[in-house]
Amino acid sequence: MSEFFNHVSRRKFLLVTGASAGTVLLKGCLGNPPENLTGGSAQSQPSAQQVSANLNAEEKPETSKVKLGYVPIVEAAPFIIAKEKGFFAKYGMTSVDLSKQSSWGSMRDNTELGSAGGGVDGGQYQMPMPHLITEGLITKGNQKIPMYLLAQLITHGNGIAIASKHVGQGIELDLAKSGKTLFEKNKASKTPFTAAYTFARVNQDFWIRYWLAAGGINPDTDVKLIAVPSAQTVANMKTGTMDGFSTGDPWPYRIVKEKIGFLAMLTAQMWKNHPEEYFAMRSEWVNKNPKATKALLKGIMAAQQWLDNFDNRKEAAQILSGRNYFNLSADILMAPFQGKYDMGDGRSIDDKSMAAYYWKDERGSVSYPYKSHDLWFITESVRWGFLPKEYLTKAKEIIDKVNREDIWREAAKEAGIAASDIPTSTSRGVETFFDGIKFDPEKPEEYLKNLKIKKVNV
Ligand code: CA
Repeated sequence: MSEFFNHVSRRKFLLVTGASAGTVLLKGCLGNPPENLTGGSAQSQPSAQQVSANLNAEEKPETSKVKLGYVPIVEAAPFIIAKEKGFFAKYGMTSVDLSKQSSWGSMRDNTELGSAGGGVDGGQYQMPMPHLITEGLITKGNQKIPMYLLAQLITHGNGIAIASKHVGQGIELDLAKSGKTLFEKNKASKTPFTAAYTFARVNQDFWIRYWLAAGGINPDTDVKLIAVPSAQTVANMKTGTMDGFSTGDPWPYRIVKEKIGFLAMLTAQMWKNHPEEYFAMRSEWVNKNPKATKALLKGIMAAQQWLDNFDNRKEAAQILSGRNYFNLSADILMAPFQGKYDMGDGRSIDDKSMAAYYWKDERGSVSYPYKSHDLWFITESVRWGFLPKEYLTKAKEIIDKVNREDIWREAAKEAGIAASDIPTSTSRGVETFFDGIKFDPEKPEEYLKNLKIKKVNV
């Protein structure tokens, strides 16, 4: 089956994702940082002696060195905070090299290389990138690079931005109620409504597709969706050649603040407490360094708990916005970190439950990687024809191979995390979307059947 996909769909995949591959650096407000820039201040980390004195022998990592890739959006905060606040060092990971990636294409390529080849050992991923890399579906020459999914980094923090010229046409969360006219008008014209995401067939592609389809707009035939780097998308929105952008903070807020566009909706409105980006690593590194893997997880868990204390969010915004990391003004991060969104067209949201959460949300653990969420991403891939239908039956086998929630549990126990913060099931149960559609992880086919707009026949 994977052979089938390799031959038939790999080419298509490359055509779609090619635009985002490793060539364009983030510019403008996010600065123009050199790639693989290492952030961090030395004084925030305890000395190696202090660390080894505090660690018990059984937990002492095999290595203190690792290279993790990240993309400068709020999803990356747990890595940056774990390094800057000394949480990695506390568990013996005193040499964590955080490598800023210019695009998701370069994150994929650097994962393929591994740190020995000048790339990275793991880091931040959209979904289901770790599964696709493991299966050799997005790597060069279809090489299978086994990966382990170890923790979820964040929920919320993403949204759909629309160019200013479309203000006042009712483009909001529920397009079935209003705003549909614009898309129908555009469909009939020679220039279809064109929207971008940063990498095809992962989160941001899924969010805009779900939103459009729920409003009765077919994302494959009624609009044009393309992969374009963030900075270029924003420039194109300014000049009027791009209509929309499915992206994560700080981009949506920046677009509003600079009056380039407005926010149609937040992903938090579409699917409250939805799965977002993840921490994953090359299995080879994890198998060689099981204690160091748990040390990284413990550092990330500590950072996630620290980030969810809203009293720390001002400091978090200051650290993340620093020149070594996002290189922007801290106030751009502050408002969304408090759940405050000026939508840019007169609407606004002031609701803490809509803010980004890193450790816990209304549904329980954010950090724990629920297998039922991997299944949603694979099901959604089947919905849009990104993966052949047989992946629905193959999903369990792939998820069991990639998702290492067992390592998360072990690390949590060793770190003394309260039992109430450790989920008892690998499934979060039934998920409900804003339009009333439900995803029952026990019945993914039923979810697909209930969706009106889809590419797969079920
Ligand atoms: Ca995202």
